[in-house]
Amino acid sequence: MLKEMPQNSRDWSELKKEMIERGDGDAKWREGKTAIYVFNAGEDVAQVQKEAYAMYMSENGLGPLAFPSLKQMEDEVVGMGLNLLHAPEDAAGNITSGGTDSINMAVKTARDYALANKSIEGQPNIVAPYSAHPAFDKAATMMSLELRRIPCADNLLADVAAMEAAIDSNTIMLVGSAPSFPYGLIDPIGDLGELATRQDVWLHVDACVGGYIAPFVRMNGADVPPFDFEISGVCSMSADLHKYGFCAKGASTVLFRSEALRAHMIFDCDDWPGGRMVTPTLAGTRPGGAISAAWAVMNYLGTEGYCAKHKQVTDAREAIENGVSQLGFHVLGEPMLGIVAFSHPELDVFAIYKQLYNRGWFTSLTTDPKALHLMLSPYHLQVTDIYLADLRDAIEAVSAGDSDAVTEARYS
Ligand SMILES: *Cc1c(COP(=O)(O)O)cnc(C)c1O
Repeated sequence: MLKEMPQNSRDWSELKKEMIERGDGDAKWREGKTAIYVFNAGEDVAQVQKEAYAMYMSENGLGPLAFPSLKQMEDEVVGMGLNLLHAPEDAAGNITSGGTDSINMAVKTARDYALANKSIEGQPNIVAPYSAHPAFDKAATMMSLELRRIPCADNLLADVAAMEAAIDSNTIMLVGSAPSFPYGLIDPIGDLGELATRQDVWLHVDACVGGYIAPFVRMNGADVPPFDFEISGVCSMSADLHKYGFCAKGASTVLFRSEALRAHMIFDCDDWPGGRMVTPTLAGTRPGGAISAAWAVMNYLGTEGYCAKHKQVTDAREAIENGVSQLGFHVLGEPMLGIVAFSHPELDVFAIYKQLYNRGWFTSLTTDPKALHLMLSPYHLQVTDIYLADLRDAIEAVSAGDSDAVTEARYS
């Protein structure tokens, strides 16, 4: 896959035109027809993201002494995250490049904590529900840990008793999701917290896709169960700014109950001729723009703005739930946040998915059980009727015998 670099420089205006054209075949997220990958909180938020990102685009979060501005913005973003998630006064955290990064750092921290404080003999392991994100597999692969995925209970939530049975003296972490990505349902974090305390095991709550929506949905009046540092067994959390925090991509938070726990994350190296290098997360260079854009969006929206945007998300989800139920689908569990998945008792949802795709929709699927899956944005409230109409057409096509279907739930 070699390609020769152009010999001569080219006009930016010409390149810009070409780049816009290259996007023609992409998913139509600006029309609200994408319910994965992109969070569309409106033009005003996008403008704040862009301008705030550009302002600190060249600055580097690796150098807090050179750029105290970024350090201060990171501390304030992390502080707001910790406060939203009921962390105690001594809690601490960092901005990372994304959920996978946050999860990897939390696993590394839990491992180093266990190695320092427990008698681990042999390969350390992590006990997680089947519904946990593949980022835990990635972390386990990179750190030579064993990941024990435990089947979910019939209600698709973490099976706490089965997870307890899988714990042994080499278990360094228990995982719960708030919510899980496939089902959009919040695991019983209270029960997992009791288990973690009883067994003296680190509990990580993966709130990558819930951390910056669940607190506001609760403020809007929903009965969201306790899922965060309010539960005393929770040692760490991952919460993505670039998902329901509506910040620019490349921003998540990894949060710890105490500075003493976070200390196990920090990498401190002096054994080279370049001087001592201390980095909290995996990255060396850290894009200043991702930090400044997160700070700007959080302050731009404030609690009031997030409550309003997330009301649109949950209103869209409720409209979809009602609509798909009328079309004969079965909503998985009782979703409360921005993700909803729904199965069909007779029709092949992989075929329905293909029909929707042919009508311009880029959405997703779950495999166990087979279901259609949507991760909703505020903008979707404006297009729920279009989605439901296209879904009705899709059902008709499949019922009429059109068997064109996707062969697997795969998007990359
Ligand atoms: C998105 C997601 C992740 C991974 O986050 P990235 O930012 O895509 O790396 C982890 N866990 C859950 C539950 C998620 O939804």
